[in-house]
Amino acid sequence: MSDVYKQKDIAPTIAKILDLPYNVPTGESIEIKEKIIGKKVILAIIDCFDWNIYEKYGRSILKEAVNGFFFEYRVSSNASKTSPAIATILTGLDPDEHSISSTADVESSDIVNLPRFAEMNGVKTTVVMEAKGANTFSGDIKEIHPVEDEEDIIEFDYKILENVRKSIDRFSFIVFHIRTIDRFLHRGKGSGIVKNELEKNIKKIVNIAQSSDFLLVITGDHKSHGDTFEGDKILPFLIINFSENY
Ligand SMILES: [Zn+2]
Repeated sequence: MSDVYKQKDIAPTIAKILDLPYNVPTGESIEIKEKIIGKKVILAIIDCFDWNIYEKYGRSILKEAVNGFFFEYRVSSNASKTSPAIATILTGLDPDEHSISSTADVESSDIVNLPRFAEMNGVKTTVVMEAKGANTFSGDIKEIHPVEDEEDIIEFDYKILENVRKSIDRFSFIVFHIRTIDRFLHRGKGSGIVKNELEKNIKKIVNIAQSSDFLLVITGDHKSHGDTFEGDKILPFLIINFSENY
């Protein structure tokens, strides 16, 4: 088994791919192939997509969807909730370093996150998220895509992915967060329905990224909750390059 990296290594790794001198993180870039530097990036954050769920379903779904090779890393997370986890993914800092435990904390934080840094440095960036989360970026980047939370979580994810699809022609760095499997697991839904939703969404994400030659990066935010799976603080960090075999 390969090394376990840290969740805070994700931001510096993506900064390296985007060829940006982002110096906020205490995490370190994972070694990547030179040929992926400078590519456009879609960063897909799947709520509670941990290593356990990845091994059970994610890898085989992705293998079938991508029809080829992709690179998988394991990262260890220090957050068990969405807001601090996403803050770690987007700043390269641990929760005790960024001190963000809710969306309200983001507004009072003066840490320059990677989407903001990218935008400041000429990489056209957008964030597609639940409205409260997305709106925390409104002062940082010109165009955000907030999606109002709703009871029908499948419809919510559908709207997120449609916003991603509409963004691919105009942006070079797209960050989004989908939430169906987290919601299902909190509500005690069985593994079959979780697998189906994961499969549907991963296939759609792959389809969107592949159609416009983005590098696709997929990760989870934190371990799964509920009783359906045993939560795992190790998360997948996956890099899929469609133009060549990684
Ligand atoms: Zn979450």
